[in-house]
Amino acid sequence: MGPVALILKVKGSLQIAIPDRLPTVRSKRLKIAVDLDGVLAESMLVWCERVNKEFGTQLKIEDLDSWASWRKFGISKDDFYRILDESWEDWKQIPPTELGIANKVAAISTLGEIDIVTGRSRMTEMAAKSWVEHQKIRCHRFVRVSGWRDKVGLGYDVYIDDAPDLMPLISRIPLARAILYDRPWNRNVPDMPKVLRVKSWKEIPGILKRISRDRI
Ligand SMILES: [Mg+2]
Repeated sequence: MGPVALILKVKGSLQIAIPDRLPTVRSKRLKIAVDLDGVLAESMLVWCERVNKEFGTQLKIEDLDSWASWRKFGISKDDFYRILDESWEDWKQIPPTELGIANKVAAISTLGEIDIVTGRSRMTEMAAKSWVEHQKIRCHRFVRVSGWRDKVGLGYDVYIDDAPDLMPLISRIPLARAILYDRPWNRNVPDMPKVLRVKSWKEIPGILKRISRDRI
């Protein structure tokens, strides 16, 4: 079928043709990438428990005050990721970051298309999907990337994430924005353009409404 035009007849002779495909580039729904670890799932809680058992430490989430803070406690990068993967084997033990997380995610689904976009090993993909399903979190797609850096190439309008090093990368993409979910490990992220920090999920709908309004 060829292009269709709607003809509006206004007071007899004046006709206005409206093409069926209006330019929608700037008015389409927001594409939103929601991170999993640290934003939806409190996986570092189980990580701390496992580290404490293995290394005899007494680490708490609040002690993780920078992205690579495990180094301060003598934990190598390999151990960090191994224990994170092992924590997901126990996915039923991982609580959500906030109570009622499914409803909080549902509250923003009217404001855009929600994908859960998570940087993780292939090994933990099924566990992570099971967790999302078990928590009854609804999303358009579940997207696994191998590292957090890969997220910036996916072209989302908004990234809801807790990764400190991701923020300057998003800030540099002309039309992208980030909502930085406040965690002990990202408190030293400085203010930068198009990155907004939130203390909790309840602030997110208001920010997304503002973003939608600004881009039209
Ligand atoms: Mg994260």
